[in-house]
Amino acid sequence: MSNIKNLAIIGATGSIGVQTLDIVGRHPEMYRASVLVANRRVDDLCALALQHRPDLAIIADESLYGDLRQALNGTGIETAAGERAICDAVQRPDVEMVVNATVGYSGLAPTLSAIDAGKEIALANKETLVVAGELVNKRLASSPSAALYPIDSEHSAIWQCLQGERTEDVSRLIITASGGPFRTTPKELLPAMTAREALMHPCWNMGAKITIDSATMLNKAFEIIEARWLFGIGAERIVPVVHPQSIVHSMVEFTDGSIKAQLGCPDMRLPISYALGKTVRLPGAERQLPFEQMATLTFEQPDYDKFPCLHLAYESLERGGNTACIINAANEVAVNAFLHGDTRFTDIYELIADALANMPYISNPGYSDYVATDAETRRHTGEAVHKLKNITTVNL
Ligand code: MG
Repeated sequence: MSNIKNLAIIGATGSIGVQTLDIVGRHPEMYRASVLVANRRVDDLCALALQHRPDLAIIADESLYGDLRQALNGTGIETAAGERAICDAVQRPDVEMVVNATVGYSGLAPTLSAIDAGKEIALANKETLVVAGELVNKRLASSPSAALYPIDSEHSAIWQCLQGERTEDVSRLIITASGGPFRTTPKELLPAMTAREALMHPCWNMGAKITIDSATMLNKAFEIIEARWLFGIGAERIVPVVHPQSIVHSMVEFTDGSIKAQLGCPDMRLPISYALGKTVRLPGAERQLPFEQMATLTFEQPDYDKFPCLHLAYESLERGGNTACIINAANEVAVNAFLHGDTRFTDIYELIADALANMPYISNPGYSDYVATDAETRRHTGEAVHKLKNITTVNL
């Protein structure tokens, strides 16, 4: 039997997908991409498919299926399109691990499908756990061979720190945050910040959506929620700390006062390979931390007044139900509007708060409730953006 592990990579053309394929390309003796999925970048998907020769390539946007089929015609690579095809593909018997590197709510359905088929999942799609962490954990409990391994660098760090430790000895999870591009920007200047300025992240080179989430610090709120479901630690014992150098990727504090930290260069290939190897480390690191040349590592309190999105982590975990699903859907719409220049930076939080105040609360949601909440919130926030846009135009 072959020792090469077959991977289904969802979000193959995005930042995490491309870095996962970089690891696959460097270690053909360990990994093979057997399924590649992209959302809309059909040309990039075709190029990756021709390079990596998967069994199957899928484009989520069905209107682009013709392009995909034509480009891969005669290559022997199967093609498909749409969400149903993605959910079926992750259940294929030859797929040993699903790398979910897609962005946003759309990552939830394939995650649940993979869990139901008992697959291992390397998860970069944090929205899966933000939106429906409780449901995901229930499904995991009823599918014993399924498992979830974090790719998010903070959660990978915590996972590494927890090796050989007992859960009952953990007192706090300390999640580090770079502080984003506006860490030192005065609060009164934030409304005027443009998408271009928000996209200039000081440490990490990431996709647009997560970079804006990092600028509002909602990304950190999401990571607190993600940690709560991944590690089963209460929100009151998960704290964010700003660490602008992004060298300490997170820490675990134990009951005896000892703290373990995981350090490394800000390079996502490290947490990706740790998840692919399920704690077995990959040889031949691309980058080593130049410890001797590092002047200082600093830590500071996050500014909850300037970044009100941080509060949303605790608010949503306290309220529970579909609260985080509402926050996520409103945010996806608001961030998209901000990237298109339709809203101000500070409107993102206001639009989320507005959705929270107006969307119906569901205390014990099932899958269909999440789907309905997501759709209704998108509609509501879409209309709110439209109103804001008209006001802005009138004021001009
Ligand atoms: Mg992260």
